[in-house]
Amino acid sequence: MDKLKLQWKVFAFLIGFCALLLVILWLFQTVFLSDMYKFIRKIEIEKAITLVEKNINSSNLENILYELELNKEIIVRPTKDFAPPVRTVPDRPEHRQPETITKDQEFVLKDGNKIFLTFHAMVTPVDATVSTIQMQLYIITGIMILLATLLAIIISKYISNPIEQINRSAKVLATGNYETEFRGKGFLEIKELSDTLNTAALELSKVERLRRELMANISHDLRTPLSFIYSYAEMMHDFPYEVTSEHSQVIMDEANRLTSLVNDMLDISSFEAGIAKLNKVNYNLTESLRKTINRMKELVKSDGYLLKFEHNEDVYLLADEVKITQAFYNLLLNAITYSGDDKTVTVCQSIKGSMVRIEVIDHGEGISQSDLPYIWERYYKVDKIHERPKIGTGLGLSIVKKIIDMHDGEYGVESEEGKGSIFWFQLESK
Ligand code: ADP
Repeated sequence: MDKLKLQWKVFAFLIGFCALLLVILWLFQTVFLSDMYKFIRKIEIEKAITLVEKNINSSNLENILYELELNKEIIVRPTKDFAPPVRTVPDRPEHRQPETITKDQEFVLKDGNKIFLTFHAMVTPVDATVSTIQMQLYIITGIMILLATLLAIIISKYISNPIEQINRSAKVLATGNYETEFRGKGFLEIKELSDTLNTAALELSKVERLRRELMANISHDLRTPLSFIYSYAEMMHDFPYEVTSEHSQVIMDEANRLTSLVNDMLDISSFEAGIAKLNKVNYNLTESLRKTINRMKELVKSDGYLLKFEHNEDVYLLADEVKITQAFYNLLLNAITYSGDDKTVTVCQSIKGSMVRIEVIDHGEGISQSDLPYIWERYYKVDKIHERPKIGTGLGLSIVKKIIDMHDGEYGVESEEGKGSIFWFQLESK
């Protein structure tokens, strides 16, 4: 149906174009032909006058006049002497007899005398010519319709074939086969369309792969704490007198793990759905960071972690404090999780012009160059082996990315394997 439409559209366009050309041709070759012919004859008379004027005293004048009469059918005679030859055509009504166009002109001779010449241009009737041209136009119209049809078929084939091919591949893609390859050729636009679709298919396949991995990880992550919680609760139920605070601690830890997993997933889905709104207020960023670091310090102190905060003055920011704290918290938690043997994490606040830059520095294992471009993607985890203490959702950094993007800020990471990482973000300060 679409193919038909395209074909007809091209056909209608070409026919319209041909019709326009034919109308212009028709007008010039039939309606205006006689007037144009007379106009051209007048121009020829003017040219003849100029020629005669130039050669009025020349011995060659006679030859020139002869040539004019012979080749241009322009007869030049002294004004008074001449009566123009009447070319009568038998059986023609009086008013359709051939006409002449005349013009009188004064010339000055070498000796100062003046001479008056009349230029007569014969005007041949064009009726016969018009009917010949009309016949030709009928033939040309036929040929043009034929050519337009052929051209319409060729053009629409040239366009619709690659589109059909792309459509077929898109249908395969829609069934979930992300290996589909789009091969559009012929036009730059079609080539670009197929390149875009290839990229889309690649992205979809990546998301699909990550989704599968996440499902595998999440189901594992949910099942393990749940089974821990169930078995400890069961034990507390069966042996209430043997319950120690470590037992309830395990239940609390596992419940926390579940909460953060579910929270991360809720956060990222609200960011992706575009329903997360910023509640911007002017607040003391330095103070807010200090509080978060102190709270974290308390939490990890018993494990021997050392958190340092380097800063000069207090910086104020117009931003969503809760969200910026969440982004910072994610970076801080990652730095602690992946910190090295020195168990030290340094947070550094610096000011660069109107920007405030926050760096979270650890001396841990670092990230390989091949992983670096991907760590900000959803569900991406470098550590694919299920090593329980370091297990994460793979959503932390993509939440950071979304939050900083929403604030029109910048973020990044510098990392070297074996030496550690510097995760940073910077925002416009007030
Ligand atoms: P996760 O919940 O797995 O930590 P993130 O999105 O926060 O998810 O991080 C993605 C990956 O980036 C992590 O799995 C980890 O391998 C790597 N990563 C993040 N921060 C650091 C860091 N400070 N040092 C080394 N690797 C890190």
